[in-house]
Amino acid sequence: MSVSVVLFTADLRLHDHPPLRAALEGRRQVVPLFVRDRAVAAAGFAVPNRLAFLADCLRDLDAGLRERGGHLVVRSGDAVEEVCRVAAEADADEVHTAADASAFAHRREGRLRRALEAEGRRLYVHDSVTTAVGPGQVTPGSSDHFAVFTPYFRQWSEQRLRDVLAAPRAVRVPPGVGSEDLPVRAGLTEVSPGLAEGGEEAARRRLTAWFRSGLAAYEDRHDDLAGDATSRLSPHLHFGTLSPVELVHRARRAGGPGAEAFVRQVAWRDFHRQVLAARPTAAHADYRTKHDRWRSERTAGDDIEAWREGRTGYPVVDAAMRQLRHEGWMHNRARLLTASFLAKTLYVDWRIGARHFLELLVDGDLANNQLNWQWVAGTGTDTRPNRVLNPLTQARRHDPEGAYVRRWVPELAGVPGAAVHEPWKLPEPDRARLGAYPERIVDLADGLARFKRARDRG
Ligand SMILES: Cc1cc2nc3c(=O)[nH]c(=O)nc-3n(C[C@H](O)[C@H](O)[C@H](O)COP(=O)(O)OP(=O)(O)OC[C@H]3O[C@@H](n4cnc5c(N)ncnc54)[C@H](O)[C@@H]3O)c2cc1C
Repeated sequence: MSVSVVLFTADLRLHDHPPLRAALEGRRQVVPLFVRDRAVAAAGFAVPNRLAFLADCLRDLDAGLRERGGHLVVRSGDAVEEVCRVAAEADADEVHTAADASAFAHRREGRLRRALEAEGRRLYVHDSVTTAVGPGQVTPGSSDHFAVFTPYFRQWSEQRLRDVLAAPRAVRVPPGVGSEDLPVRAGLTEVSPGLAEGGEEAARRRLTAWFRSGLAAYEDRHDDLAGDATSRLSPHLHFGTLSPVELVHRARRAGGPGAEAFVRQVAWRDFHRQVLAARPTAAHADYRTKHDRWRSERTAGDDIEAWREGRTGYPVVDAAMRQLRHEGWMHNRARLLTASFLAKTLYVDWRIGARHFLELLVDGDLANNQLNWQWVAGTGTDTRPNRVLNPLTQARRHDPEGAYVRRWVPELAGVPGAAVHEPWKLPEPDRARLGAYPERIVDLADGLARFKRARDRG
């Protein structure tokens, strides 16, 4: 009987999985393989929160495969060498995997194809597994990618998405292919205490709850910080425990303004992927430089540390940064305002902020993180690169009662209503009761003046 290897990467699911479906065609035996790639760890991407979530995902994938008569094979090392080794052990003639946008994934795919072909095996790379509409699938004609979201979204919306595939009923793994023990979450240190649970089962539970009771109000409530009314599906999209194609199909079927607004956000994810695929250097270099002379760890070390620790003296910024540390996740509005505070108000290099986010975010993703940071810093695809988000205006608009701040900043838990956003205005006896809550590290007017001076110099 012929054998295929399915190399799982950022697609750790059984539902709607084109590589697995293709591998099973013709009643083949399949080796479901995940390689803990040494290069990913060496590049600093294997941080505790994502390792913990990944451990959940691999256990759950293995459990799902076992229910179908198979199991997951896990190996560690160089991904290309390990895939070739497993293919040889199983005497497989083909390998299936999902397309990916990053430069790293492209290089790995090229090496894998050459190594497999040298041994007489074939590599099949499947589109629309980790994206709904993949990089290069829609282009403006004048360039290899869209630099502006609105026209991109127009074309993106016109694409016919492939049908959703059911999870397989049975998976037969050939004997004699050994696996390492699956990683476990327990035993990992420095994991955020409020980290979400990983795995396809948890993803599908959240998906069902979201469609039942969150989606309809999404358009009205997505910026409500205290309401926490977004899907929180981002880690599942990052690890591929949910299929973006399935998500879009289901949202379109549900219909209504909430579903439309939600689909638009999912398209932002594809948008950033197609930018990064076309301009891999945007992961670390300005996409559109303004020749900023950013402040650095050397010139703004104390400010940066206060931002990381949630001790800037601006309650909404501090609440968000503490949520990030506690949950390994942050609300989109909070990401926007904390990033703007670092890059625009403190005028600190966006790469420093992006690195901190990647160290903690469970959904930390090179395309989405770096390009959203660039968007906020004014070096990316924003058509209004000089916009500055004032943290007080943001706080009054998106946390009008102050409930988000009181949730995450215990020193301010006793301050009622919107007064919590400006503790420096409290009368003296009340201020004295705030304990260790810090003074503001910057005056907003000074920050803005510094930003304007730097912008005019640029
Ligand atoms: C500075 C900054 C850094 C960010 N870093 C990341 C990151 O590392 N990984 C990541 O997945 N998202 C990132 N985002 C985008 C966004 O904040 C998160 O995707 C969103 O908050 C996840 O929450 P949710 O699943 O509840 O989103 P929902 O509002 O429910 O949206 C549904 C899905 O759409 C996608 N999406 C939503 N907003 C965006 C956006 N602005 N850009 C791209 N995709 C989006 C996500 O996949 C999300 O899960 C970042 C945004 C900013 C401003």
